[in-house]
Formats: sequence, C-alpha cells, structure tokens
Amino acid sequence: MKTRSLYVGLLFCSTLLVGILWSALVQRGYAADAFKAKVLVVAGPCQHPPGTHEAIAGARLLTHCVAHAENVGPISALLLEAWPKDGSVLENTATIVFIGDIFPPERMDERDKIMAQLTKLMDQGCGIVCIHYATGLRGEHVAEDGDHPLLHWMGGYFATGGCKHHRSVARVCPATLVPEDNDHPILQGWKKFAFDDEPYWNNYFGKDGMAPNVTSLVYAMLPPTEPKKETIGWAIQREDGGRGVGLVVPHFFRNWRIDDLRTLVMNSIVWTAKLDVPAEGVKSSLPDLATFKPDSVDPQPRRKR
Ligand SMILES: [Zn+2]
Repeated sequence: MKTRSLYVGLLFCSTLLVGILWSALVQRGYAADAFKAKVLVVAGPCQHPPGTHEAIAGARLLTHCVAHAENVGPISALLLEAWPKDGSVLENTATIVFIGDIFPPERMDERDKIMAQLTKLMDQGCGIVCIHYATGLRGEHVAEDGDHPLLHWMGGYFATGGCKHHRSVARVCPATLVPEDNDHPILQGWKKFAFDDEPYWNNYFGKDGMAPNVTSLVYAMLPPTEPKKETIGWAIQREDGGRGVGLVVPHFFRNWRIDDLRTLVMNSIVWTAKLDVPAEGVKSSLPDLATFKPDSVDPQPRRKR
C-alpha cells in the first residue's frame, strides 16, 4: 500500500507540476522502490532555430533512452519542462541532466531558490550532466575570476557571452570525437566518430586549468584550420561524493541518431547516478526522431515571428 501511494503521489506531483511525464513509472509499471536510480531530465529555455538545440525534444529523447536502457536499470526517468514548485520531486534524485540554452537555472524564474535547492542536492552527492549549451555560462553569471558553483559541480564550463576571464569558442564545423586513452567507465562501448556539429572548444576548467579530480574523457582536434587537442567531454569526481559530466555536443538534433554519441551520453548519465556502466556501454534503442516532436529533425532557418 505504501509503495502504491508513493507511486500515485509521485505520478500526481510530476503530472501536476511539469505537464508532461515520460516516466518509466508509466511506461514499465514498476513500483517506485524497484528502481535502481531516479534521474531528472530538465529542459531549460531555448531559442535556437528548428533542428538545433531542440531542448524539449532532446529532453524527451534522453528521458526515453534512460527509461528504456536495455542493459542497466530499471531507472526512473522524469522529464521536467520547468523547475518543480514542489521540492519533494527532487528527493532521492541520483542525477540531474540539463539541456537548454545556457545553464538552465541561470535563465529560470526563481534562480536563487533553484540554485539553493541544487546546492543542497549536490552537497548530498547528487550527480549532474550538462549537454551542449547547458554547459554555458555568460559573463553576468560568473564572478570576475570566473568562479561559479557549476565549476565545482561539473569541473568546467563553456565560457561565453562577455566572460572577461576566459573566452570559449562556438563554431559549427566538422569534428571527430575521440575517447581519451584512459579506463574511465564512460568510455566503454563506443568508439571515435566524425560528424558536423558545434563542439565548443577552449572550455574553462578553472584558474589553474583542469583540477586533479577532473578527467578529460573526449577530445577533438580543433579548430580544423589550426588543430590542437581540445576537451569536448569531461568528468569530475567531487569530494562530496557526487559526480558530474560536461559534454559540449550535440548542437544538431539529428546527431542524436549517432549510436556512439548516445552511448557516450547514456554512460555519463548512468555513471553520475553511481550505477555501474556495462562493459559494452549503455544500450538504448531509438524510435524515429520525429517521435520526440522537435520543431524540425533537420536544421531549418529561424522562423519569422
Ligand atoms: Zn549550438
């Protein structure tokens, strides 16, 4: 009975507060306590042209992949299109995935309240994964020396929009993402791949560069005209026990079709949730991308308003 009331309570809160629920609770019918972990996927504000960023569709896709991971789990995956007003939605969260333009809490209403709630979660060892532009902070978000809680939670960020301490670069170009030569679990089950995307480079890892508890996971030789090794994905093992991963791709929604990219992202979610990453990587099958209702699967010019 307790399990059932928990289930109903969670379902009610989620539906009420976030509008859309793509939850493993619904899709698989497990009792709440049968899950190995609870993952929140948060879609932040996004103003990019159709086929690029596609924060909400990307969040639906990630929620689907987590809930249907074939060789790990079961994992409870909740999609949030807004920050929950009821703090109980956050309880027992193993990891939070952010997708959107700029680190979403900086662009959401009640920023300070959200950051306080996040700080509490991170202090308790909750994981964090930011995808593409959600790794981004602008000059107005960071201290003069570049400090920001995200630097400590995730190990680095994409420094953009008037950051005086550091200037990262965003440019659409061909890139080959290569796993680093180390034995990090996130590197299991995928191999290097080439695509057209917008892999941010010269990302910011702190005044003294990458901290000892931060590991470069994925690199690319950028820019194509003057190639040098640039970290595109990284992981932190924090002192509070929590784990964070920053991945500065994908820009194009259609790139979610790339199995190796999805395995990299899914491994990151599972690792930050403190679950074991299978040796063959986390496997996720994907329906047609249109299923997730993006404005467009392929990139289109910005629509006139
Ligand atoms: Zn982009």
